[in-house]
Amino acid sequence: MSTDTDVNTPAPPESEERVMGKDGMAALVDILTGRGYTVVGPTVRDGAIVLAELDSADQLPYGWGVELRAGQYRLRRRPDGAAFANAAGPQSWKTFLHPSRVRQWSADRTGEGTVFSADRTPPPRYAFLGVRSCDLRAVAIQDRVLTGGPHRDPVYQGRRSGAFLVAVECTEPGGTCFCVSMGTGPAAGPGYDLVLTEVVDDGGHRFWIRGGSREGAEVLAELPARPVDRDTREAARVGVTAAAERMGRTMPEADLRELMAGTLDAPRWDDVAGRCLTCGNCTMVCPTCFCTTTEDVTDLTGDHAERWRLWDSCFDLDFSHLHGGPVRASARSRYRQWMTHKLGTWYDQFGSSGCVGCGRCIVWCPVGIDITEEAAALHDWTRSRPPGEAS
Ligand code: SF4
Ligand code: SF4
Repeated sequence: MSTDTDVNTPAPPESEERVMGKDGMAALVDILTGRGYTVVGPTVRDGAIVLAELDSADQLPYGWGVELRAGQYRLRRRPDGAAFANAAGPQSWKTFLHPSRVRQWSADRTGEGTVFSADRTPPPRYAFLGVRSCDLRAVAIQDRVLTGGPHRDPVYQGRRSGAFLVAVECTEPGGTCFCVSMGTGPAAGPGYDLVLTEVVDDGGHRFWIRGGSREGAEVLAELPARPVDRDTREAARVGVTAAAERMGRTMPEADLRELMAGTLDAPRWDDVAGRCLTCGNCTMVCPTCFCTTTEDVTDLTGDHAERWRLWDSCFDLDFSHLHGGPVRASARSRYRQWMTHKLGTWYDQFGSSGCVGCGRCIVWCPVGIDITEEAAALHDWTRSRPPGEAS
């Protein structure tokens, strides 16, 4: 579904819901490809479930699940053959909407002087297949950050405005998921063109599919799908409800914004700084982190130069470099900046939490630092202080 810069029309009610089998999934990829989209979805590669361009639904990770722990990601075979029972992978959709490397311009020295040129290639039209509920919210957050103000990011806007989103409701949360705590899943919120819920039981392997936009309804009408039956709808709802009850992690029941503001001097920041390598992995995998830097490069002749925009991380020392040195020189200050921004000051800046509970930062932290554990420790600290010391 497009951003608010485009017209979004609700789907007609008569095409709201259908049931389809694996043949329907194959047709969905073909239909989207036929409509000119580059279809991107999950597939197995290099020991992980990664997001990649799909030529066929056969490339979906049918029969693969994952085992997620702090600092650990493992693929596991699933006997039920499910395609989407594998939680959030190492990448998020920002890889495609807000790419890690963008050439902004290039310059060439010629006989007539220096000639500057910009890349005028039209943005790709993506169809994202398998957008989990947490990631659907993350896309909405990046919409707000990158296109919601007076200064819109043209790269993001170009890619986002043409994107078609097929959401998937989670029925198998990972051990590091906590979308329920953040109010972002496992049921899908608004913002999709189509939404699927996968069901595998005695009734067969099938997908309950609903439209969320006019184009979603058009695609739905083209699919080899049948009217929804009560058993499928019920099984799908039970699966999503059960997933909500099996979250691997949970945030403390507290106002996280207040918690962050009231614990800036907590000794826990020294504790976590003693473990944090300031590698920045957590920011790279986070679906809402958006910071970038610029880098100028030249070729060996010095006649050609390029300016690139690259993802940056608040864990990098240079990130807060002003004249004379970095403002946040210690690991303590950098971890605290990241976490208090995600859970606290993001509200002041953008009106929501910056965390959607996907758990990626926990899985891909090389030393297994867990944002929910850190929040719980801060919460415990505030509760253990004598009343007079509370801020
Ligand atoms: S902070 Fe961690 S759990 Fe929250 S959205 Fe980012 S990667 Fe996911
Ligand atoms: S919290 Fe973990 S992933 Fe993030 S910078 Fe520290 S060591 Fe790296």
